Amino acid sequence: HDDRSLLEQLRDQRPTVSFEFFPPKDDDGEQLLWTTIAELEPYDPTFVSVTYGAGGSSRERTVRITARIAEQTSMRPVGHLTLVRQSREEIAEVLQQYADAGVSHVLALRGDPPGGPRADWEPHPGGMDYAIELVELAHEIGGFSVGVAAFPEGHPDAPDLDEDARVLALKAGAGAEFAITQLFFRASDYFELVDRVRAQGSDIPIVPGIMPILNFAQVARMAELSGAAMPAEVLAQIEPIADDKPAVRARGIALATQLCRDLIAGGAPGLHFMTLNRSSATREIFEALRGEGLV
Ligand code: FAD
Repeated sequence: HDDRSLLEQLRDQRPTVSFEFFPPKDDDGEQLLWTTIAELEPYDPTFVSVTYGAGGSSRERTVRITARIAEQTSMRPVGHLTLVRQSREEIAEVLQQYADAGVSHVLALRGDPPGGPRADWEPHPGGMDYAIELVELAHEIGGFSVGVAAFPEGHPDAPDLDEDARVLALKAGAGAEFAITQLFFRASDYFELVDRVRAQGSDIPIVPGIMPILNFAQVARMAELSGAAMPAEVLAQIEPIADDKPAVRARGIALATQLCRDLIAGGAPGLHFMTLNRSSATREIFEALRGEGLV
């Protein structure tokens, strides 16, 4: 087990591996999540993260699950936190809950408006408007290592890719130590983001987010919502077999594994798997990469 700080591990040559979960809707979903977490813990991830939901009960689950990971597992949890429908005081309170539970890493996000990623942002009257303000608040409270979001194809609201990269560099300047990307399908989109951010003078480690295509309709919808385009070369591989679910899954895992190889070869600091609370696809990709000595 590696006791160095997250930043030290991200700055190391050896790629980190991390897993992302989401807060389940009900107790059955939570049971499944704990099974998944137990199956992935032996891979000794550098960190695991839990996304922050849109509503009260799912938010409580996020904090509770993240706290329990800190208390009952050997893994380092990163708690996501957003600005959606919360006052500055409420946001500070969640940071305090994380701190009290021993969760010292947070992913500071604006969050998507209740109408979804494509809807207009709705500011809370006593709240904050941009993730950078949450980075600053976490540092005011103190004791946190803070990460932020990054967008290989640009955030949907950003006027252009350079402005998008400038925002990430600003967040790094405000004290964000690392970034994790939105899902994407082409390694070149990731490397071009890294180049743009370096051109802005920031050396913040940017961890690529990996989501294998296991269910074509689901990933296509998530990609569209997040502003990531499903490239023609990926569509050409999946569409002809779209009705054959096992074939889609196998192809999706092969494509994601190749993406991981390309990312590591190009110097990505780690791989962050969006697991959707299931372990098997992530394990298959991880085993393949480990067999090749890449992770
Ligand atoms: P911001 O950094 O605030 O940026 C939002 C927009 O404002 C961008 O267009 C940006 O260019 C612009 N902007 C930012 N700062 C400035 C400024 N100072 N001046 C002018 N323009 C500015 N959502 C959830 O609800 N829960 C989650 O758990 C969650 N986890 C995520 C994890 C990852 C790895 C990623 C990549 C995204 C995640 N999201 C999550 C989605 C995210 O909240 C949305 O993509 C959201 O729309 C943008 O969040 P942000 O933190 O990048 O916002």
